[in-house]
Amino acid sequence: MQSYQLHIRIVSDITVNVGSLGKMNFPAGIYTYTGSARKNIYSRVKRHLTDSKKPRWHIDYLLAAKEAEVIGVRYSAQPECSLNQASDGEIVLRRFGASDCVNGCHSHLKLRRPL
Ligand SMILES: [Zn+2]
Repeated sequence: MQSYQLHIRIVSDITVNVGSLGKMNFPAGIYTYTGSARKNIYSRVKRHLTDSKKPRWHIDYLLAAKEAEVIGVRYSAQPECSLNQASDGEIVLRRFGASDCVNGCHSHLKLRRPL
């Protein structure tokens, strides 16, 4: 496995300060975040599910919000960008999780459906 997806529920519209991206508005909804780890993907995901940590990635800032909750995890052998591009959803937050993406995803967080 090299990629993972977090299914995230955001229960109400929130504004989160996402580190280098600044303040972003997240409409309430079900989101899919696609990421990868070169090694130890399971500990990466476990870290995402842990509440107290120093934020490092964009997703850390979002998951620190009490309105955001991971409701499912999926692993995949597909490279993260093709997995992301093959996933349903709408890009509402450009550049999120995609700082080092060179495959034209524009965002690694997609809004699957509004709440
Ligand atoms: Zn990408």
